[in-house]
Amino acid sequence: MIREDGFFYPSGGMISIARALQKIMGEYGGDLRLDSPVEKIIVEGGKATGVRLENGEEITARVVISNAHSRETYLKLLDAESLPYAIRRSVSRQPNSIPVPYVAMGLKVKMDCVRSHFSIILPERKQFDNFWNEFYDKGLLNYPPDGMFFASCPSFEDPTMAPEGKQVLDAFYIASPKLKYHQWDDISEEWSMSCIEFLDRTAFPGLGANVEVMDSVTPVEMERRLRLPEGGFFGLEMSFTNLGPFRPSYRSPCVDNLYLTGHTTNPGGSVPIVMISGIACSSLLLNDWPDIS
Ligand SMILES: Cc1cc2nc3c(=O)[nH]c(=O)nc-3n(C[C@H](O)[C@H](O)[C@H](O)COP(=O)(O)OP(=O)(O)OC[C@H]3O[C@@H](n4cnc5c(N)ncnc54)[C@H](O)[C@@H]3O)c2cc1C
Repeated sequence: MIREDGFFYPSGGMISIARALQKIMGEYGGDLRLDSPVEKIIVEGGKATGVRLENGEEITARVVISNAHSRETYLKLLDAESLPYAIRRSVSRQPNSIPVPYVAMGLKVKMDCVRSHFSIILPERKQFDNFWNEFYDKGLLNYPPDGMFFASCPSFEDPTMAPEGKQVLDAFYIASPKLKYHQWDDISEEWSMSCIEFLDRTAFPGLGANVEVMDSVTPVEMERRLRLPEGGFFGLEMSFTNLGPFRPSYRSPCVDNLYLTGHTTNPGGSVPIVMISGIACSSLLLNDWPDIS
């Protein structure tokens, strides 16, 4: 773990947390399947009895824990008949957190002006004040310089994140998940180029000419790659009516033996916070199932 100026960063990137969990699971005899999308949670007589993978394989279990988004769990993985109308309606209406589309860049050489995590690049006050009502709420496409950027350079402190002599830079923005007049897929490249051009002009002179590879990760792309509805950064919005008793509970209220965890449950989103959710959910499960050790 690297710590600098209040930020904590796992050496080797976020994937090292997943690898550490994989190692611990292996030590306890667990079997982890990667690239195995679940198509359905099997429910018999009101109880979750296992999962069916997209490849058709069925895995039976006494208990099913879903770490997927609550909308994925309730509206996709469960059949409609397993779900009371009130739950279906409330799950589908809970708003997601804001998406943070970003441009991931691989730089040909290290740039002195690029520092660690995070640099925050703000527009002029008036533009920023108008951002939510002028752009976000109306679903209008906002090009820089109307919004703000968080720029992060993981390879600054962790050289394993980029080839020798090179650098990676991620520039995170905020933009509406659903656009009124555009499709994200149609404008992703053009939007990313405008981000790079803006960052070159304002914060990182020479950036444009130094970009070797680029990946535009729009809200739609996040939905596809991460199964993250609307690309919501922290799963469900972390507002008063989406927290505490209003957030999906660890123990499903409508399907026995089904548990939920992750950033759509309490306490909410971000890596350290979802770990609390994991601990709370497993404690509840051990309480409900004392014979599972
Ligand atoms: C771009 C971005 C940057 C972020 N940066 C930070 C940061 O710097 N620090 C921080 O603390 N937090 C950050 N966050 C937030 C943080 O990543 C999330 O809050 C956290 O990862 C949520 O963990 P989770 O386990 O609940 O969900 P996820 O990490 O989303 O894990 C859920 C998993 O379930 C899988 N899944 C879904 N449906 C199925 C299915 N049907 N079958 C099989 N698998 C399925 C998904 O593919 C996914 O791998 C960031 C989020 C984003 C989007």
